[in-house]
Amino acid sequence: MRRPLVAGNWKMHGTHSSVAELIKGLRQLALPSGVDVAVMPPCLFISQVIQGLAGKAIDVGAQNSAVEPMQGALTGETAPSQLADVGCSMVLVGHSERRLILGESDEVVSRKFAAAQSCGLVPVLCVGETRAEREAGKTLEVVARQLGSVIDELGVGAFARAVVAYEPVWAIGTGLTASPAQAQEVHAAIRAQLAAENAELAKGVRLLYGGSVKAASAAELFGMPDIDGGLVGGASLNADEFGAICRAAGS
Ligand code: PEP
Repeated sequence: MRRPLVAGNWKMHGTHSSVAELIKGLRQLALPSGVDVAVMPPCLFISQVIQGLAGKAIDVGAQNSAVEPMQGALTGETAPSQLADVGCSMVLVGHSERRLILGESDEVVSRKFAAAQSCGLVPVLCVGETRAEREAGKTLEVVARQLGSVIDELGVGAFARAVVAYEPVWAIGTGLTASPAQAQEVHAAIRAQLAAENAELAKGVRLLYGGSVKAASAAELFGMPDIDGGLVGGASLNADEFGAICRAAGS
């Protein structure tokens, strides 16, 4: 039985004081005991959030980490070992905003995945198609390529300690959500691709849906057989909305 996970990606949002307010709101939430909950603040605020959420059952992760595991000469980057040192437990890898705006290739994504895992962080591998790719009927092909590149580089065994997030690019930050059936189709394909390599392992890998998830849409999405929770962007900046999404994952 897979334990649901809801992770909030705060993206490049927040100030010291708005983060303090959000921490206050998160501390007040009644969270379901059967759901893992995490937030991923901008790197700058990770320590503030870890301290502010001490004693609350919310993990803290990062939105990105370096291709190299250990600290060193790599200006502007954060080593996964540094994230682990301050108390992060997971990190997003290959978010579409990084693939599309910053040009992160599948190869870079695999290197970041491996570096993060070698430091004990759980990589959350983000995959998903653009609107043009969906309209061209290439959704499953694109997602299979993104996932396959990590499997080819690191072996399917790497997914025993990883999470995959299916995030259609056309649904991120747009208010458009994939229908539960559309999302389930891709999640089932992701699980089948993992199962083709290792059926037992595939049954245990958590697959999250991301793309304009709101409290109103969460329960139906999370009710699909291969959807094990959500990666939540905009809605995670509102503690009450985020709490309602977490509760939907527990229902
Ligand atoms: C995201 O950034 O991972 C995301 C899913 O954003 P949003 O929920 O705002 O679409």
